[in-house]
Amino acid sequence: MKQPIECPFPRLFPSQLEKNENFYMQHAYNESISAWEKDEVPIGAVIVDATGEIIASAHNQTRKCKDPTAHAEMLAITMAAKRIGDWRLNECKLFVTKEPCPMCAGATIIGRIKEVYFAFEDPKMGAMGGATSLHELQKSNHKPLVHSGILRDECLQLTQAFFQIRRQTGISPKKE
Ligand SMILES: [Zn+2]
Repeated sequence: MKQPIECPFPRLFPSQLEKNENFYMQHAYNESISAWEKDEVPIGAVIVDATGEIIASAHNQTRKCKDPTAHAEMLAITMAAKRIGDWRLNECKLFVTKEPCPMCAGATIIGRIKEVYFAFEDPKMGAMGGATSLHELQKSNHKPLVHSGILRDECLQLTQAFFQIRRQTGISPKKE
């Protein structure tokens, strides 16, 4: 059986000196590398609480879990809610490498996440400005603040490379 392609991108080493948007997105980026290493679509996410602590960190696992809902954001949201002990994540910020899809954007609204940061937009399935804007539903009583473009080139390049290599080699995805 053919082996999955090794991830050619090195992990980043986020500096602890300044815990800014870049710092958290670098953690999400590293999660996306973990996904690649397991032959999953390389998307990573972290959730940060009001104090700035990372309380959840996850990557896409749809293949491993055989579960279409096992997106990085969904796994991170569940993890964060468990950690906090409440389904309401009002004070939390989500950092994710790709613009959330309708399912994940929906979960950020239902979970009342305060702010969402994503690296690159998804014009096909993005639901926070790319293809549609679920966070701006007129009658919704929770509208997360959305920021985009943090570490955009790095995250986009990694994801594009993954699909490009897949197409060229036909090696990945692994057969179930
Ligand atoms: Zn999603």
